[in-house]
Amino acid sequence: MKRPNTLHAAASVAACKLTRFALRKTGRGGTAIPGIVALKIAKNILASVSQGMKIVVVTGTNGKTTTCNMIEHALTSGGHDCLLNKSGANLMHGIASDLISSADWRGRPTHEYAVLECDEAALKQVVPYIRPKAIVVTNLFSDQVDRYGGVENTLQEIRTGVERSPRSVLVLNAEDPLSASLARNVPNKVVWYGLDESVGVQGNVDLSDAGVCPACGSRYEYDYHVYAHLGGFRCPKCGYSRQAPDVAVVSIDEKTADGSTVSMRIRKKDIQKVRIALPAVYNVYNAAASVAAIMALRLPAREAIEALATVHSSFGRLETFDLGGNRLQMILVKNPAGCNQAFSYVTGFDEDFSAVLCLNDRTGDGHDISWIESTDYEKLVSDPHLQKIYVGGDRAQDLYARLQRAGADQTRMELFPDYAALVAKLKTEQVPVFLLPNYTAMMELRDALSPETGAKEFWE
Ligand SMILES: [Zn+2]
Repeated sequence: MKRPNTLHAAASVAACKLTRFALRKTGRGGTAIPGIVALKIAKNILASVSQGMKIVVVTGTNGKTTTCNMIEHALTSGGHDCLLNKSGANLMHGIASDLISSADWRGRPTHEYAVLECDEAALKQVVPYIRPKAIVVTNLFSDQVDRYGGVENTLQEIRTGVERSPRSVLVLNAEDPLSASLARNVPNKVVWYGLDESVGVQGNVDLSDAGVCPACGSRYEYDYHVYAHLGGFRCPKCGYSRQAPDVAVVSIDEKTADGSTVSMRIRKKDIQKVRIALPAVYNVYNAAASVAAIMALRLPAREAIEALATVHSSFGRLETFDLGGNRLQMILVKNPAGCNQAFSYVTGFDEDFSAVLCLNDRTGDGHDISWIESTDYEKLVSDPHLQKIYVGGDRAQDLYARLQRAGADQTRMELFPDYAALVAKLKTEQVPVFLLPNYTAMMELRDALSPETGAKEFWE
């Protein structure tokens, strides 16, 4: 991609930095606007500010943010200088804002590496300019259907991005037949990561997003399941099947609220014990993806493996708050697969807990909330350790009704249209509380909590 001339680049970068500064002065994160301004001045500025940078792009439905954090933590722990688009503004303009404002005033990159979370549909817009070394696809599930027109459509969006970036190494989930199909008919090298059958975890099996064999159109058969449509898939007709992963989790040896210890086999070599300082099975996947991404950058897997022991959760992803001495843990939930995984996690402990469920239906969430019908609330409400359920958000009534249909005990449920009242109530809680909001509800809940807990503004 052609780069803008020096003067043009400098003007674009200056506009971006100044707009961002002005917006922050007035207390707004302004994550997209500086990028819009900069791209108006020089539409190919991203080619300048990313020149020579080693970039990893992370896309997919669930786990993008955590996987980005893990990769960035691995790079910085390994002594490399790395930019991360922390704000979660993962569309073209948000990515542009972060990349451009990190450049020097002449439009040259100031970091050796960048780890960029990228929306599935934005991938194809961004990659021709930034030429990533690696593209990580975490997984694909039905999500925000009204925005993308179904998971097959999302897959096609990503495929277009991959086709525009033939030299990027793909980092793919071996058990997801949808994202695994991206490896077909492209020249890109692939590093596979996954969970072997020997791990023996099995969550809710739901094959509605599995798709069909890209070679012959047959339905898949499975040798084993992990959760949803992830597992040991194979086509009974033509033999197309799961690839043996380069980064293979072979067992989960310990699971606690602070994290997991797993055994990993790297490229068929020795098995190593790996401590992952974030809990839940889906973070085992994210951890394996981060190790594979580091290998795709041709750095030693060891750098990623060691860093996993000290990785921290971020904004909304198992972020922990202290509210008057009681533990609150936030898990962003935005689709059935992610929500069911969150329920597996919160019901996996031998201690009493309460839950806060908040549902909005704004643009950032997807206007269609019918996904709550196919979500396994029954699993949550049938847990004997569950004490109270607090329900909030714009669509609290719908969620309340759904919980009733799932068999929730009405005497244990309470509606909270107002977050301040909810936070006041949470202060009186005696047991750990899991907060399970979707995206814009998380923003509001977090805002309401921050004066009490000292949580940071999200762009800090
Ligand atoms: Zn087939």
